[in-house]
Amino acid sequence: MRFIEGTRAVTEGELQVNNITPHRVTTFYRKQISKTDYYEQLRRIVEPSIEEFESPGSLDTSGEHANTVLPGLQHKYAQTGLLLVTDRCASYCRYCFRKRMVGKSSNEIAPDFAQVARYISQHPEMTNVLLSGGDPFVLSTAKLDEILDHLLPIPHLDSIRFGTKMVAYEPKRFEDLALTSLFQRIHQAGKTAMVVTHFDHIGEISVDAERRIRSLHAQGVQFLNQSVLLAKVNDDPAILAATFTKCHQIGVRPYYLFQARPVKGASHFQVALRRGLEITRGINQRLSGIHKTFRYIMSHYTGKIEILDLGDDGRVYMRYHQNKAPEKIGKIFSRPHVETACWLEDLPEG
Ligand code: SF4
Repeated sequence: MRFIEGTRAVTEGELQVNNITPHRVTTFYRKQISKTDYYEQLRRIVEPSIEEFESPGSLDTSGEHANTVLPGLQHKYAQTGLLLVTDRCASYCRYCFRKRMVGKSSNEIAPDFAQVARYISQHPEMTNVLLSGGDPFVLSTAKLDEILDHLLPIPHLDSIRFGTKMVAYEPKRFEDLALTSLFQRIHQAGKTAMVVTHFDHIGEISVDAERRIRSLHAQGVQFLNQSVLLAKVNDDPAILAATFTKCHQIGVRPYYLFQARPVKGASHFQVALRRGLEITRGINQRLSGIHKTFRYIMSHYTGKIEILDLGDDGRVYMRYHQNKAPEKIGKIFSRPHVETACWLEDLPEG
C-alpha cells in the first residue's frame, strides 16, 4: 500500500484491526490538487499515512452512539436531526471523524426511513434534518428522492440540509438534472434546501465546483461551508482567509472552522489550541466585516464549543454554541491553558 511516507506491505487484516479507512481518491480531485501550488498540503487530505496506525484517540469523539435514538438517526440538539444515509464517500478524507464507519460496511446507516419520519413527526421541536454519512450525494438521486418522500410531509421541518464534500471531490455529480427537481421539491414543500460544502483549502475550490455552486445558488439552494483546521494542510491564516473569501465570492457562507477531533488514527491532524487561536485571529485580521461569518468550534461530546480566546490570565475562554441543556448555550467558561492542549480534556478543570 502507498503511504505518504512511501510504499509498505500492509495486509487487509492489519488495516481492519487498526481501523484504517480505505484509500480512495477521485481522478477529478487528484487532477485538481495537482494543478495547484498546494499539492504537498492537499494530498495529506486523501493519502494514507503510517501515522494512522499510531495516532491515539477515540472513534466516537462527539458521543454519536449516545445520541442515536433510532438506527441511523441522532438527536443531540433539540432542533436538529442527523441522519446517516450512507457509509460511502467519493474519496476518503484521512482525518474523518467517522473513521469508525466510512468506507466500511457499517450497521449505523438508517435502514427504515418510515420509522425515522415517525420519530421526527412526534418531535415538533425538530426543525431541520441533516443528511450525512458518508456523503449523501454518493446515493442516486432516486434514492435521495425516496428519503425526501418521508421527510417533506413533516410540517415542522423548515429545512433539509445535505452535508457533502462531493462538490470538491466530483462536482460533475451536481450536473444531474434530476437534482434540480429534487431541490425544487424541497422548495415546493415550503422548506429550505441547504448544501453544506466541505472546503478545507482554497486549492479544493475548482472552476467546476464554482460553476455548479453558482448554478444551484441561482435555483435557490443555500450554501454553507465547514472546514477542519488541519496540521500541515491549512494551518495558515492566509490560506484560510483566502478560502473563506473565495467561498463568499461564489455564494457559500463559511460557518464552522472545526478544531480537528482526537480521533483514533487521525489525531495527528490536530493543531494546538494556542496556534488555532492565532490562526483564527489572523484570519479575522484579513477579512472584512461581511466575510467574518465563521466560528472556531470544538465539536465536543458535551456540545459545540466556540473557542474564543487565550486570555492574559493564561486561561482559554470558550462558550457553548450548542448544548443539549439549553441553559448552557451562550455561557462563557474558561480553563487554565496547557501548551500542548488540543481538546477540552487536555485543559485541567479549575
Ligand atoms: S467526505 Fe466527509 S464523511 Fe466522507 S471521509 Fe470525508 S469527512 Fe468523512
